[in-house]
Amino acid sequence: MVYENYQKVQENIAAACQKAGRSPEEVTLIAVSKTKPEEMIQELYDKGVRAFGENKVQEMTEKYEHLPEDIQWHLIGHLQRNKVKYVVDKAVLIHSVDSMRLAETIDSEAAKKNMVADILIEVNVAEEASKFGIGTSEVIPLIEQISSTLHHVRICGLMTIAPYVSNPEENRGIFRLLQKLSVDINDKNINNVTVDVLSMGMSNDYEVAVEEGATMVRVGTGIFGERNYNIAR
Ligand SMILES: *Cc1c(COP(=O)(O)O)cnc(C)c1O
Repeated sequence: MVYENYQKVQENIAAACQKAGRSPEEVTLIAVSKTKPEEMIQELYDKGVRAFGENKVQEMTEKYEHLPEDIQWHLIGHLQRNKVKYVVDKAVLIHSVDSMRLAETIDSEAAKKNMVADILIEVNVAEEASKFGIGTSEVIPLIEQISSTLHHVRICGLMTIAPYVSNPEENRGIFRLLQKLSVDINDKNINNVTVDVLSMGMSNDYEVAVEEGATMVRVGTGIFGERNYNIAR
């Protein structure tokens, strides 16, 4: 069942790409497996799926230990600085960098491991008080600061969590704004930073996000079904 859902989402992505004149290869579907058992991840893995998303450090590292090592784990949730050391070499991409201090911690932990960590800047486009991420006007200064001082992080793009809305069309403007911001950043050519990755769109609104230029969509419920936060974690 889970794989059928996954395929259905892929088909919807392909249709959205076609509508927007994009190639489906430009879009990576991240299967957001938070709260879901390892067996479900293994089931998708056995069908060839490699990109999974988790939002909690402990849950990600446990699954990392138990599951095949070529899984690409995306850390999509808020990251506390004291937990960076556990994930910096396990996540292929950290989607949730929203401060210089966090970037500095990632940089120093990556340096210890002799690696460069790939990151996205989380932008709170809708400026919702309940959400992490920085305001749009803070993005370019943060990218300038990170790219001019830190050598063990690489800024790959931008991420946003759009509000939960009943009609996904309501989020189109947010996705468009993030896409436009990425173009502005690339035009400025800040210390050779190019933001190619746009991580935007979830179960509710990923098709609209793809139409507006998403290169990564993070889909949980649409693949694994509703989450039950009362069991397990
Ligand atoms: C849980 C989560 C998702 C997936 O949400 P669904 O609505 O279940 O698709 C995507 N992004 C982030 C950051 C999440 O925490």
